[in-house]
Amino acid sequence: MSHGTFMVPTPQNEPVLSYAPGSEERANLKTELAAQKSQTVEIPIVIGGEKVFDRETLDLVSPHNRKLTLAKVAQANRDDVSKAIDTAIAARKQWAALPWEERAAVFLKAADLISGKYRQKMNAATMLGQSKTCHQAEIEAACELADFLRFNAYFAQKIYEEQPMHSPYGQWNRSVARPIEGFVFAIAPFNFTAISLNLACAPALMGCGVLLKPSHTATLATHYGLQILEEAGLPAGVINLVHGDPKMIGELALSHKDLGGIHFTGSTGVFQHLWSQVGSNIKNYRSYPRIVGETGGKDFVFAHPSADKDQLLTALIRGAFEYQGQKCSAASRAYIPKSIWQELKKDLIESTSKIKMGDPEDFSHFMAAVIDQKAFDKINAYIEHARAAKDANIICGGEYDQSQGYFIRPTVIETTNPKYKSMVEEIFGPVLTVYPYDDAQLEETLQLCEESTDYALTGAIFAKDRYAVKKLCDFFENTAGNFYINDKPTGAVVGQQPFGGARGSGTNDKAGSIYNLQRWISHRTIKENFLPITAYEYPHMGES
Ligand code: NAD
Repeated sequence: MSHGTFMVPTPQNEPVLSYAPGSEERANLKTELAAQKSQTVEIPIVIGGEKVFDRETLDLVSPHNRKLTLAKVAQANRDDVSKAIDTAIAARKQWAALPWEERAAVFLKAADLISGKYRQKMNAATMLGQSKTCHQAEIEAACELADFLRFNAYFAQKIYEEQPMHSPYGQWNRSVARPIEGFVFAIAPFNFTAISLNLACAPALMGCGVLLKPSHTATLATHYGLQILEEAGLPAGVINLVHGDPKMIGELALSHKDLGGIHFTGSTGVFQHLWSQVGSNIKNYRSYPRIVGETGGKDFVFAHPSADKDQLLTALIRGAFEYQGQKCSAASRAYIPKSIWQELKKDLIESTSKIKMGDPEDFSHFMAAVIDQKAFDKINAYIEHARAAKDANIICGGEYDQSQGYFIRPTVIETTNPKYKSMVEEIFGPVLTVYPYDDAQLEETLQLCEESTDYALTGAIFAKDRYAVKKLCDFFENTAGNFYINDKPTGAVVGQQPFGGARGSGTNDKAGSIYNLQRWISHRTIKENFLPITAYEYPHMGES
């Protein structure tokens, strides 16, 4: 029972710390990295708050230091998954009945713990487990995650405040935002700790019970995140964590009659597979499952002849190579007018060749390793394809080495073919392909950029000419869910640039926004009549 109106304060984005030499945060992070490296953590599956360790385990190794086993991860069996689903469904009842502000308090407290005493724990686990530099870990495992939790609580309040426009004399009309029935299946990618946890936390905030299946390679930080949520007061059973065979877990969850929704982030292929499984099971569900998926991209940078060369250079390097190009938003194809390319090419080669790459524990590095053997092999296949191709030329990088970890040098491919393989397929690695175009062929090249891929996630234009800015912005209206003018296409911030793509890139429900939270509720409208009538006849039926 709620006894008042509670205002969630307007959230502020968590400030990003610098980790500059001599800073307190740098010293604390180094201490935490050393502590986490000195142990191999046993990671359980978590069902109804119970930690289950005694299962087969799978080693979690650090991508940049293959000899370092960070954790042994318990793998769920079929019974575990079924039990976790039943537990999520059962836990929903009490959790959903809790006033929303009580639920919000749990996540607001977790945000303060994450940005406070556990900041370096989350950052270190993300650096070691997912091979991020301190900056790349800080912006998401600490800041974006805290932002997701705080902004979502604020947006949830707006949803609960929303009521029908009118209650005429003698009536009261109300709307109740019920959490969707059943359970939500949250399936997470490897590349963002913040996403991994938010996929579960967003529906849980709205009162749902959740089955969370993280990516194996993001297990360490997700495990710590769940511990923090427990410390913040998340009741047992609201979020149940399973690790293990994705296919088996997916089949059990998707064929369950109480599947209420899917909250997915990952590749387009896997999402399409999940959606088709829902389609084939459609007659068996109690409700139509909500399907929310943010998926792949083939994100572009399009330079107009009026673009500033130096701004473009920085955007290409940061946009394409930060976190080894493993952001769904990473710049992976660029269309550059030949008038600019002559000079830009030289600078791009020079700057890219100097990029420092290696173990992220050395804070002077700009890049670290790609996530695993599968990614390493896949990315290198594109590099070898370009080496052999007649219409493509590696102008920089192209080297790779897995003796210590999965390191791939930032690579730039120049192509004369705008439909060349690496111009149209998602690579998800540090590979940027540039198509220099004739300045006179601006219109044709815009069309090429628009049509070349099925994705529509992020895109950036560079131009100083204001007429060109307007023209390109209009032209690319449906080519990107997140669009940037004179900025790199990565680095969306919660509450500032709600993130998500359309077409093959996802359902565009914008993580960390009110639109996403709307997907986890199902409104119940209540009309109460204070003055019920007692005659069925209408006035027009009277005798004249
Ligand atoms: P992935 O699709 O390989 O895996 C995502 C998750 O799906 C993992 O937890 C995986 O174990 C699980 N999975 C795989 N097969 C499954 C099955 N049959 N049933 C159930 N679950 C299954 O993606 P990834 O390599 O972890 O992440 C990279 C991809 O994610 C890229 O395509 C990237 O563009 C995309 N991504 C998109 C966004 C976005 O907001 N649009 C954000 C981050 C990542």
